[in-house]
Amino acid sequence: MATFLESRPFRELRDIVGADACLTQPAELAPFLAEWRHRYESVAAAVLLPATTAETAAVIALCARHGIGVVPQGGNTGLVGGAVARSTAEAPQIVLSARRMHAIRELDPDNYTITAEAGCALAALQSAAAEADRFFPLSLASEGSCMLGGNLSTNAGGTNVLRYGTARELVLGLEVVLPDGRVFDGLRALRKDNTGYDLKQLFIGAEGTLGFITAATCKLYPRPRGVATALVALRDPAAAIALHSRARLALGDELIAFELLGRQALDFVLAWQPAARDPLAQPAPWYVLLEIATARDQASVEADLETFLADCLESELLLDGVLARSGPQREALWMLRHAVSDAQRVGGASIKNDVSVPVSQVAAFLELAGRRVAESLPGTRVVAFGHVGDGNIHYNLSQPEGMEAASFLDCWESLTAEVNAVAVALGGSFSAEHGIGLLKVPELRRYRGGVELQLMQAIKQAIDPAGIMNPGKILGD
Ligand SMILES: Cc1cc2nc3c(=O)[nH]c(=O)nc-3n(C[C@H](O)[C@H](O)[C@H](O)COP(=O)(O)OP(=O)(O)OC[C@H]3O[C@@H](n4cnc5c(N)ncnc54)[C@H](O)[C@@H]3O)c2cc1C
Repeated sequence: MATFLESRPFRELRDIVGADACLTQPAELAPFLAEWRHRYESVAAAVLLPATTAETAAVIALCARHGIGVVPQGGNTGLVGGAVARSTAEAPQIVLSARRMHAIRELDPDNYTITAEAGCALAALQSAAAEADRFFPLSLASEGSCMLGGNLSTNAGGTNVLRYGTARELVLGLEVVLPDGRVFDGLRALRKDNTGYDLKQLFIGAEGTLGFITAATCKLYPRPRGVATALVALRDPAAAIALHSRARLALGDELIAFELLGRQALDFVLAWQPAARDPLAQPAPWYVLLEIATARDQASVEADLETFLADCLESELLLDGVLARSGPQREALWMLRHAVSDAQRVGGASIKNDVSVPVSQVAAFLELAGRRVAESLPGTRVVAFGHVGDGNIHYNLSQPEGMEAASFLDCWESLTAEVNAVAVALGGSFSAEHGIGLLKVPELRRYRGGVELQLMQAIKQAIDPAGIMNPGKILGD
């Protein structure tokens, strides 16, 4: 029997994108199949890189006709196995990469909008906005590699959600190739457009299960003139939440980032990153990195943050703090926060969690989850950090010292179940910003079963009845 690569549908797919944009050799496929956390083995019959919406539509229409699974991919930085392909001889799957579709189609400074293609790297989008004296606020540690289509498909969050919202809130219009190859042209640049169901929102956060996003029109904001950043030390998470409430009252919408960092996380960064320096004279159990940004000048913004922090120190809410006085100092503080995921490697094997609770429940969550983890596996090191201004905690766990990595990883499900149970009991979510992918399918069924899951299944059935788009992701096989 002919293999997929010898088949006529494959030859037709290759003809659509051109031989150079149809990869089949193991060395060419490798970068598209490498999964960030090495939890999944990705197997694809081929990787296709269309250059236009028309090519994308033709590829997907052909896949629909022949029952070929399509796994959309952007920068491949997702953390839940969403861009992983599971091709077999009986059920071939291709990876459809947005990499060659990276044009910025239009930037309208007066409308404060930018229209870009799915393969535009997030950092390139930010730079284009800055060149036009505008600001695109989505910001993640992976911004050099992740792409707009991936950001929208995961409804990415990041460090500025507090003020600007998640990716969902930044989108005005979308262009999507549907699972039958038709193109939904919803690329409108309107802030007001009440015309029935808001279809674009269906595709945002859908992780490629309902279609392939080819382009989007996003909101831009005024580029901040002054940005002030500080790292402060706190005795416990309750103090961090009190600081958050006070900062919002005192600084209003100028507060754009509020990130929590436990001492264990900082210790790993200091051990891993030679350039990292302990930012304060004395170690503290908890830290918050906060940032304000305004249309006013740098000096006045720094003065505002300094006055606010001095008040908090005087009332003993803070133990200590440091204010960045230059661009490099600001970058050094952010590096401590951004390096945590990578730095956790120095602690051996790790189990990652991405939960959210109401901001008012963050301290209770950390207390209860800490207790449950310590009871389940004594010695587990908690690496808690994240976007606490959004109630989002990356509650990562590192293996106890001296334990075998494999034995620790065997506890992934049980420890994650403990952490998720605490979050859900406090009104939270087991998946704050990374999405479901393959990793959290069982949790979705457990915690969002019943009507919510039925509605999701009905939407999938209505839009992708043949189930060719990103098979198995979110809803399972
Ligand atoms: C160091 C690091 C830090 C991170 N920090 C954050 C953070 O702060 N906040 C956060 O939210 N995430 C974070 N992430 C996770 C990740 O970067 C985001 O989920 C990002 O939005 C994924 O974009 P991507 O282009 O890499 O998508 P990919 O990984 O390629 O794909 C992600 C999902 O989207 C689908 N998809 C991709 N492109 C398209 C498309 N054009 N149309 C339809 N579906 C598509 C894929 O099938 C997959 O299901 C981080 C990751 C790393 C490695």
